[in-house]
Amino acid sequence: MLRMLRIQIKPMYHYSLDKSCKKFICPRCHKKSFVKYFDNVNSGYLEDHLGRCDRETNCKYHLAPKQNQTITTIANLPVQLKVSTLDPELLNRCKKNFKKNNLIHFLRTYFSDEEIEVVIEKYFIGTSAHWNGATVFWQVTDQNEVRTGKVMLYDTNSGSRIKKPFTHITWVHKILKIEPYNLQQCLFGLHLKNFSKTIAILESEKSAIMMSLLLPDYTWMATGSKGNLKKEILLPIREFNIVVYPDKSEFEDWNKIILILQKDGFKIRCSQFIEMLNVPTGTDLADIYLETRKNNFIIPIPTKLSKTEIEVQRLANINPEILTLISVFDLLDENHNSIIYIK
Ligand SMILES: [Zn+2]
Repeated sequence: MLRMLRIQIKPMYHYSLDKSCKKFICPRCHKKSFVKYFDNVNSGYLEDHLGRCDRETNCKYHLAPKQNQTITTIANLPVQLKVSTLDPELLNRCKKNFKKNNLIHFLRTYFSDEEIEVVIEKYFIGTSAHWNGATVFWQVTDQNEVRTGKVMLYDTNSGSRIKKPFTHITWVHKILKIEPYNLQQCLFGLHLKNFSKTIAILESEKSAIMMSLLLPDYTWMATGSKGNLKKEILLPIREFNIVVYPDKSEFEDWNKIILILQKDGFKIRCSQFIEMLNVPTGTDLADIYLETRKNNFIIPIPTKLSKTEIEVQRLANINPEILTLISVFDLLDENHNSIIYIK
């Protein structure tokens, strides 16, 4: 992996007083105590009168060249750095103790044992003893390299991350004290990339797992953090149709990145679905789907439907076949968002 490293080099001047011990005749006091200016770029002395008299008496001759500049600044140097990986055997070693895994406990309130079994296998979910009840989310590439495992602790009842008295997030390579470790994160779920034509991405690993059960037509992946949505991490899925689902209030930030990626040739779009709902900041797609599952509700209606969606609803009342067409061809609305039909 070629990476650009910013290396700070001590600044060096174009011209400096000669650092060798060579002394010349001073133009003022005529003693052999004169240090000439040296051209560090062209390796040579400057004109004879440019220099400083080193005599400690009252000569004090000093004439410096004009327009002296630094010649070294911060340099971007390409450095070959090997991306660190972990032993894949670790995945098997952590695939156990699910009775002591808070997240799995939480999932049991919504999903059957069979469904949970499926996602444990599909996403290599693990249990860590680092904190009692902690979950491991492995970041496995499409080349089956294990980049790292993210260890997080959830509350059994709410399914929320435990943030007090501190944020319970750490990494397997840190727990194993592997140093130095050149971590390059990949999408959570990247190893599944060839399983469907459309890849759906959201922020949370937990939500990706749940959405894979709730909307299995997509391949669900997670960035792991808001700031992790970037070109570098999306390059391995460049040739796929991608739709990203930002959390409530994060649409603008993610959409900015998506618009740049579209110009770059990515077939990617940013869903406005959650942004249009009247839900608290930070709500994500899985929260919305779970709420509907829990209360037997239908999916809430976005406060603002796109023109296409309004038309789709009208047509679907006449002929529901249009819904099949939309899902089969993954049709988009006039804003290039997925069409979400609301019954
Ligand atoms: Zn002198």
